[in-house]
Amino acid sequence: MKSTLLRRQFLEFFESKSHAIVNSAPIVLKDDPTLMFTNAGMNPFKSYFLGNSTPKETRVTDTQKCLRVSGKHNDLEEVGKDTYHHTMFEMLGNWSFGNYFKKEAIDWAWEFLTDVLEISKDNLYVTIFEGDKADGLQKDTEAYDLWKALVNEDKILLGDKKDNFWEMGDQGPCGPASEIHVDLRSAEEKAKIPGKDLVNRDHPQVVEIWNLVFIQYNRKADGSLESLPAKHIDTGMGFERLCMVMQGKTSNYDTDVFTPLIREIETITGTTYGKNEEIDIAIRVISDHIRAVAFAIADGQLPSNTGAGYVIRRILRRAIRYGFTFLDTQTPFIYKLVDVLSKQMGEAFPELISQKNLCENVIHEEEKSFLKTLEQGLGLLDSIVNQSSSKTISGQKAFELYDTFGFPIDLTTLILSEKGYKLDQKGFEEELQKQKQRSKAAAQTSSSDWVVLKTDDQEEFIGYDYTEANVSITKYRKVTSKKEGELYQLVFNLTPFYPEGGGQVGDKGYLETPNGDTVFVIDTKKENNQIIHITKSLPKDLQKDFKAVVDVNQRQRTASNHTATHLLHQALRSILGKHVEQKGSMVHSGYLRFDFSHFSKLTQEELQAIENFVNARIKENLSFEEERNIPYAVAIDKGAIALFGEKYGDTVRFVKFGNSKELCGGTHVENTSQLWHFIIKNEASVASGIRRIEAITSDAAKEFLTKESEVLSQVKSILNQPQDILKSVESLQEENTSLKKEIEQLNVLKLKQVKTELQSQLKDINGIQFLAHQVNLDANAMKDLAFQLGGEHHDLFVVLASKQNGKALLACYISKALVESKGWNAGKIIKYLGKHIQGGGGGQAFFATAGGKNPEGISQALAEAKAIVEGK
Ligand code: ATP
Ligand code: MG
Repeated sequence: MKSTLLRRQFLEFFESKSHAIVNSAPIVLKDDPTLMFTNAGMNPFKSYFLGNSTPKETRVTDTQKCLRVSGKHNDLEEVGKDTYHHTMFEMLGNWSFGNYFKKEAIDWAWEFLTDVLEISKDNLYVTIFEGDKADGLQKDTEAYDLWKALVNEDKILLGDKKDNFWEMGDQGPCGPASEIHVDLRSAEEKAKIPGKDLVNRDHPQVVEIWNLVFIQYNRKADGSLESLPAKHIDTGMGFERLCMVMQGKTSNYDTDVFTPLIREIETITGTTYGKNEEIDIAIRVISDHIRAVAFAIADGQLPSNTGAGYVIRRILRRAIRYGFTFLDTQTPFIYKLVDVLSKQMGEAFPELISQKNLCENVIHEEEKSFLKTLEQGLGLLDSIVNQSSSKTISGQKAFELYDTFGFPIDLTTLILSEKGYKLDQKGFEEELQKQKQRSKAAAQTSSSDWVVLKTDDQEEFIGYDYTEANVSITKYRKVTSKKEGELYQLVFNLTPFYPEGGGQVGDKGYLETPNGDTVFVIDTKKENNQIIHITKSLPKDLQKDFKAVVDVNQRQRTASNHTATHLLHQALRSILGKHVEQKGSMVHSGYLRFDFSHFSKLTQEELQAIENFVNARIKENLSFEEERNIPYAVAIDKGAIALFGEKYGDTVRFVKFGNSKELCGGTHVENTSQLWHFIIKNEASVASGIRRIEAITSDAAKEFLTKESEVLSQVKSILNQPQDILKSVESLQEENTSLKKEIEQLNVLKLKQVKTELQSQLKDINGIQFLAHQVNLDANAMKDLAFQLGGEHHDLFVVLASKQNGKALLACYISKALVESKGWNAGKIIKYLGKHIQGGGGGQAFFATAGGKNPEGISQALAEAKAIVEGK
């Protein structure tokens, strides 16, 4: 059965059980401080399990793009080596938010696998939670009994907390799980070892395919469990593993999810899959990683040096490195796989088609630059080996190579062993641990349990209409981090504070307590769908009502910049073309930053036209128009632009200024005239095919222009108030150029004079033409002079000295004949003489220079030079 059909069948099966089919959420998580990437199907629904928001549908089914490369779930190092773990994979799921529970979940899973797909019951095993003393939990007999009605009891296995108790994190919703495993081995092998002995034992053909999680507890900060008022179902089935089962294969890579990619890699690299284990691993790694990287880029996460971007960069580099070493590819080729991938999966995930060019460009650039790094690294490794006096290379050196140059450690080990060297693995591990400790210590945070003061189902955001409101605190908790110390997070019943999101910074402001105390809100964020106000202290009486006041100055400036990003977006699309897509934005009170897809640097004329376009919209006094909670499709019909990688609900907010129409949750000005003026400060590239514009408006623009005009009047005054400043600066420049020319000519003359003078001072000492003299020349002129003299005299030994800007310079020239006959070396001599001027230097045997900070020592250095020639 084709994978595309299988995906559809799963969704349709649960649709027939009254589940709503929903789209996969983006693989890249924005606005979630606790997680970088979606790593399980349940992530997008977290706020339902936590009770922070109410779902519209209580039965849902989907296929979710997941990435397991960091944090709690990290399968990266396994990928490629085994045949059933991927970085990026699809998790098929069915969900009950407080609707059905264990019985339906178990019955339907069984029905789908054994009735619909007709997987032989003989090959399936199930596990249930055996209980845990420390947690005070009993065996999950409820699940056991439900399974007993469907399968033989000898197929129901007990599992411990590690395998059969699912937790989202250290805190939060959790519960016992029941897994379904499949045994794909031959009858012969089955006869030797029974399948039940291999369940959860990392056997590549006895694998878990589906995990049914029964969310019924909440783990508190002190580690204890409390029962949840509502019980939920969270299931996750690995799509690629299911394809393996249904297509009669024993490796995910032999299914039609991977074979088109593998065929393409074989063609490009001239290799064959299935003949040599090392090559096979490399091909699996590349065919897996291209998916992770392309999906992430399509959802808006570009490779970069920090955070989520760095994770993506590392995945791609792992693929490049496997190609480089095992497939012998020294030129970029991974980007070429995007085409196959988008053809193959574009129907289910259209973002792969629309973002194809971007993915290709970005990956191509990354490949080029990392291949260069690899080459440099090889060079560095060579010199480390050459300089090493022992056959073991220090862990610290290898760590430097790894940390500073991004050179993969396994490659270092491999190359060293080829050269007959060893790596001090322990030393390397120690360095790695030290670095981990350092970043962990910096990032460590701990949060206490929420203290609930009032029950409230939804914290309304009223910040579009109000910047002040009377609020009460519904819950709070303390969060401690190394970096920021102790902070409090407060949740209100309603709030005028805008939480950081959609590129816009969170509001600041204060809470006024009834007795006149004020507590500052230093930032506002959204976590698991609730708005969190961050403060450094708690108000004294938490039970009272408070006046919550947003800092309107900051809000106004931020709003002005947010409106400007919309106008800028419109300007870019109208001036550069419709290919321009927003790729990220940052809206601060002081400035705005806008990233967009475009293939070349913007010209001065384009930038001017963009600025003019936005300023024209400001002049038109366009007023803000919005429609809240309109259906997504209606907004798109009206011409709103949706962004890729953005998760939109069924209803959206539609924001319009004239012909600029966007889906946006941010805060805006009432009228474009409030922007006052729009100024582009900078335009640059952030990645291949992505440009960034930084700009300012309102107060910042005013300040900028005031400063510029101050500078201008200072320039005017320096130039004695000329009629035409531009002309006057131009003529100064011309004068400067002609003066420089004149100086050059004079220098040539001077050099000639000095040369004649020096030639008269040449002394013959034991057949050597010797000269040691102080001149008034710069380093280049000294060198020139020394070489000119060298061209005219045999057996020459010259030391020149000069004092320039309070520092001393020395140059030593020795005729090649002398270097050979006497074994003299200018490099060594200059080092020796350099001591007198408190400096150092070096060079070659026939010419070397030194610089030092003690011009007083020049005469001594010259005297010393003479002594050398005289053989004293
Ligand atoms: P395993 O023990 O095989 O690593 P898991 O316990 O980590 O699996 P869950 O977190 O329960 O898996 O995820 C649910 C399902 O998702 C699994 O049953 C499996 O089919 C699939 N799955 C998990 N991790 C991966 C992965 N890295 N690649 C592909 N599929 C995966
Ligand atoms: Mg796992």
